[in-house]
Amino acid sequence: MKVADNFALTAVSVVDGHGGPPVDDQAVIVRDGRIDAVLPMAQYRRADDVQELALDGHYVMPGLIDAHVHLSGGRAQIDDQEIGVIAEPKLMRAVRSVYEAQQLLKRGVTAARDVSWNGLYLKRLFFEQQIPGPKVIACGPGLTRTGGHADLHQFTHDYVQENGVWGIMADGRDEVIKSVRMLLREGADAIKVFASGGDNWPHDRNHDVHYSFEELQACVEEAHRQKGTIVMCHAENREAINMAVDAGCDTIEHGEDIDEELAAKMARNGTILVPTLQLIVNWYRDFVPVGDAVQPKPRPDAFLYRDLYDSHDEAFGEQYSSQAVQSFQTAKAMGVKIALGSDTVYEPLTKYGEYSALEFRALVEYGMTTSEAITAATKTSSEAVGMSHLIGTVEPGKLADLLVLRQDPTQDPMVLYNADNIYLTFCDGKLTVQDGIFAW
Ligand SMILES: [Zn+2]
Repeated sequence: MKVADNFALTAVSVVDGHGGPPVDDQAVIVRDGRIDAVLPMAQYRRADDVQELALDGHYVMPGLIDAHVHLSGGRAQIDDQEIGVIAEPKLMRAVRSVYEAQQLLKRGVTAARDVSWNGLYLKRLFFEQQIPGPKVIACGPGLTRTGGHADLHQFTHDYVQENGVWGIMADGRDEVIKSVRMLLREGADAIKVFASGGDNWPHDRNHDVHYSFEELQACVEEAHRQKGTIVMCHAENREAINMAVDAGCDTIEHGEDIDEELAAKMARNGTILVPTLQLIVNWYRDFVPVGDAVQPKPRPDAFLYRDLYDSHDEAFGEQYSSQAVQSFQTAKAMGVKIALGSDTVYEPLTKYGEYSALEFRALVEYGMTTSEAITAATKTSSEAVGMSHLIGTVEPGKLADLLVLRQDPTQDPMVLYNADNIYLTFCDGKLTVQDGIFAW
């Protein structure tokens, strides 16, 4: 199908991203990449310079926005999860990340906030429009302390600093400020900081706080000095989440330790939660084996003797999962804004595109209505990535990042989960995917 620069999607039902039911019998008019008008068919008038696409029975909604991905280009199994992703040459990983970004787009994800070196350059590649890709809102690598969650400790410090995927090490106020400035110089749209551990290896513990309040505050102040820069903060325990909120971080990633008091503060401050539920709830099922599933590692991790004999049994894993669900539900009940972020990190464990769809389904499974999950994945995610003035809703003036669906996405989360229902995907008003095949 060929679609002109100016076109109208007619007789469609519009799901605008604000959370209401579909509005039937509408026309969505796009001119030069932007939504020009959304109006009832009764008011629609055909114009000579506008191509008409009659789409009776179809639904139009904003493109999905995944607020947390790692286009890392790595391939790994559970046994060597972090080793696998940085042992390959950087160029191999960079090339593979193009495929990863394109897989997102094929599942209706028209924009994604990325934490990896690759994102800084994928962003430019797709903007050139020589090959199709989503908008990559780039963080570059996240700031991690030496020995922090994104420091892949199985390799030497220098090797990780040079070849790391997701993190650069910065310690103390001065290095944090310097790193933020360096990333902004490379074109980072947002800054990621790892405030707590994340259980990638035995001494990277969820319950440890990794940055001081002073370091976090320096990071946020420096990032916000360049107006519009969002700070996303990995925080997995109450102390780290609370500190991140007080330091002014814009979004909390994972955040599986939120009680009512903390949720109330987040709601007051407008701090957005990106719960990455699919990953967190399944962490001890799919990623870090517990109980009988624990196998000897091919090479020993650095470990803490005092923790060595604490075995994580299945009950521990299930307790962690239910705490994550509880934290999400508390945040939701207290009115915290919640965005969709899949934390797709490497294949084959998390498949690009599919994992975003799984996160959408998880938001509904653990407590959102399907309409609420659509708002999370569009409007709220656009706020989480600092792009709500451009994308996230079907409204005049916004960029025409649009999905045309065969079924009503508000009725059942499986409609969006099932890629067969995505008929057309427009990026900046350009038909980019038709039935899972790139259109240019
Ligand atoms: Zn992540």
